[in-house]
Amino acid sequence: MRHQIKSDDPRAPEMTEAIEKCVHCGFCLAACPTYKLLGEEMDSPRGRIYLMKGVLEDKIEAEEAQPFIDRCLGCMACVPACPSGVAYGDLLVSYRTLQEGSRLRPLSDGIARRLIIETLPYPQRFRLAMKSGKIGRTLQPFLPEAFASMLNMLPDKLPPPSPLPPILPAQGDRRGVVALLSGCVQQALAPQINLAAAKLLSANGVDVHIPAGQSCCGSILLHIGAESEARQIARRNFPLMPDDIDAIITTAAGCGSGMKDYELLFKGQTDLQKASDFSSKVMDFSAYLAQLGLRKPRGFAAERVVAYQDACHLLHAQGLQSEPRDLLNQVPNLRLVDIPDAGMCCGSAGTYNLDQPAIAEELGRQKADAVLAAGPDTIVSGNIGCITQLRKHLDLQGKHLPVMHIAELLWAAYQS
Ligand code: SF4
Ligand code: SF4
Repeated sequence: MRHQIKSDDPRAPEMTEAIEKCVHCGFCLAACPTYKLLGEEMDSPRGRIYLMKGVLEDKIEAEEAQPFIDRCLGCMACVPACPSGVAYGDLLVSYRTLQEGSRLRPLSDGIARRLIIETLPYPQRFRLAMKSGKIGRTLQPFLPEAFASMLNMLPDKLPPPSPLPPILPAQGDRRGVVALLSGCVQQALAPQINLAAAKLLSANGVDVHIPAGQSCCGSILLHIGAESEARQIARRNFPLMPDDIDAIITTAAGCGSGMKDYELLFKGQTDLQKASDFSSKVMDFSAYLAQLGLRKPRGFAAERVVAYQDACHLLHAQGLQSEPRDLLNQVPNLRLVDIPDAGMCCGSAGTYNLDQPAIAEELGRQKADAVLAAGPDTIVSGNIGCITQLRKHLDLQGKHLPVMHIAELLWAAYQS
């Protein structure tokens, strides 16, 4: 598509390139969850590229395109499916942040969005919000949909805070040195995940630094187009990371892919170099451990049948498909089973549950059906959003199977 973008945004070249590379072939359509579900061309990657092009060229009103862009999960399933190499993610993230500045929202949406920005990236505030949520639930029938969705997402209770030590030294011969990002929502919802990852890395001969005073990486804010807030919070982590480390490890798929996009987020900003240096060291926990090589775990006394649920931001955004499976396949007495249509999003997708609850529900239900068809006794994933979504939808079907982070299961395989 020839394209003349009317914007002085520093990311205009990335948007232009993505649009120009699209040849309308439609190979991406079959990979797109919203197209599969809704059957509308404008709810497909090709349709959305057409709409964004039209808005950027002042040929389509932004309000007309908005519902279709809002329904995009940002799952990136369309990216590996595209033979022309369209960087759809660069276009989507840049477009969303560009539009956010001029977007008019209903008052309740604006307040809900502000609550997300002010709460989710801060574990202590999130804990406080949990307590208020209990009061809020009694008022739920009287609240607008945006608030009701937020309250529905809050779990009944949180585990107690579990502070991480500043360092877990390598056991045995030292094979690596990393810094672990503790994250935000995950650290409040499931602090045992980072602890398991840190212990597992240490047991595999890695010095694990966990710098104090870390903040959210900003990915969840970038996902909703709040770029200045995302930058503000992300740059707090830059000076905290030690220089002499092999990698900055994350246990959350969405955070990993968001941090790998820092060059786009910081384009045209004074601290682009710092952001780029930081971003180049970010690795998902499973990718680092697979590259390092796993020390043989003891395994399980009785066979465990495990389904690995691909998080979109590992599979599509970071291309990590074999690494987590290779790790699991090395565990004695663990049998890995395949989930049908494994690349389909579970509907969690950052704040999608809050923004598009009906689609998120349907995708969650379909994913739970697919998982059950594989016949596992345990499900693992590499993202807290997928874990929460799957647990909820399996519970709704009366199937209370354990759903855990891959780090938790691997760590359990060292202890059994
Ligand atoms: S990111 Fe996902 S939902 Fe959005 S267009 Fe691509 S495949 Fe469809
Ligand atoms: S597969 Fe790529 S080139 Fe083809 S329509 Fe989709 S985005 Fe455009």
